[in-house]
Amino acid sequence: MTDCLFCKIISGEIPSKKVYEDDYVYAFEDIAPQAPVHILFVPKEHIPMASAITSENSGVISKIYEAIAKVAHEKGLDEDGYRIVNNCGENAGQTVFHLHFHLLGGKKLELKMC
Ligand code: 5GP
Ligand code: ZN
Repeated sequence: MTDCLFCKIISGEIPSKKVYEDDYVYAFEDIAPQAPVHILFVPKEHIPMASAITSENSGVISKIYEAIAKVAHEKGLDEDGYRIVNNCGENAGQTVFHLHFHLLGGKKLELKMC
């Protein structure tokens, strides 16, 4: 998608600190980290948000979770644990409308859910 921030990051048009990449998934450091580890995992295919996941495109979700587990392990987060967050739509605070999962870790996170 031409006018999408994360599509531009995936294509390299906008620079990012890459953490992981495969044929389906791109992961990079969040520009405004909320924890010592704050990495965004996005599908290379433009999917706007979680509510747009269908049987046609849901395969990439397992690829994203595989990538998260791999990176979390590499970052040494397995023992202490970490959080995976997806904000879907305005009420959840989604600001970039290209599906993404936040990996947050490296400190004790608040238990606040809403
Ligand atoms: P959301 O609020 O949509 O769930 O998360 C969007 C995330 O994207 C935010 O955590 C924000 O800091 C991050 N972000 C916004 N613009 C950029 C950018 O240009 N580069 C990077 N690396 N992260 C960004
Ligand atoms: Zn996009």
